[in-house]
Amino acid sequence: MLPSHYACTSCGERFEFAHREAVYYFNFDSAPIGSQVRGADLFAVPVRPGWCKSCATVCLVEDIAPVRAFADAYGTVRAGRAVEYPSATEFLDLQQAQDEIATYLRWRLGRRHPPRALCCGRTNYQLLDVAQPLIKHAECDFGVVEPRLLFPGPHNGPGPGVYSPANIRVYDSEGCLIGLLTWRPRNSETWDVALTEYPQTNEE
Ligand SMILES: [Zn+2]
Ligand SMILES: [Zn+2]
Repeated sequence: MLPSHYACTSCGERFEFAHREAVYYFNFDSAPIGSQVRGADLFAVPVRPGWCKSCATVCLVEDIAPVRAFADAYGTVRAGRAVEYPSATEFLDLQQAQDEIATYLRWRLGRRHPPRALCCGRTNYQLLDVAQPLIKHAECDFGVVEPRLLFPGPHNGPGPGVYSPANIRVYDSEGCLIGLLTWRPRNSETWDVALTEYPQTNEE
């Protein structure tokens, strides 16, 4: 679970995640994402918290385990048990769980690019969920950037995208930003998609 935010131990400056949720649209057939996408074609991006040195902010980093972990997860769901990685299958029926983990395994086998920071797509980051993740706050003599855990309240209402655009980021198989999920009509499983991409930069 991601911390709610990070804060400097000295000056108290807060560092927020620009977004906390990300999904893949696996373009196995190289078809570009359209103006609409079915929820069933979207897969949660497994993420870890990171510090992006390019953007100087906390960010989501793709959490991509070795192929072996995906193969093991597939074996586990085939045996009728639930897994938490690469996605939680606890609330899926057996067939759904197998299909879902098989899709992640297929993606993992074809994935080429190392895990990206999902703010800018670069790899210039430091993971924060490790034993000594302390990030020195550049403006402070003594401050380090630490996680702050807050538990989110219960989620009510019809879910994101009904009353206001959800703006959930969508990435392709290689972790490139391709769109935003904006609107989802109530009781619909289809999202409207606004095409977008990472900001253009001169680096890399
Ligand atoms: Zn500070
Ligand atoms: Zn970045």
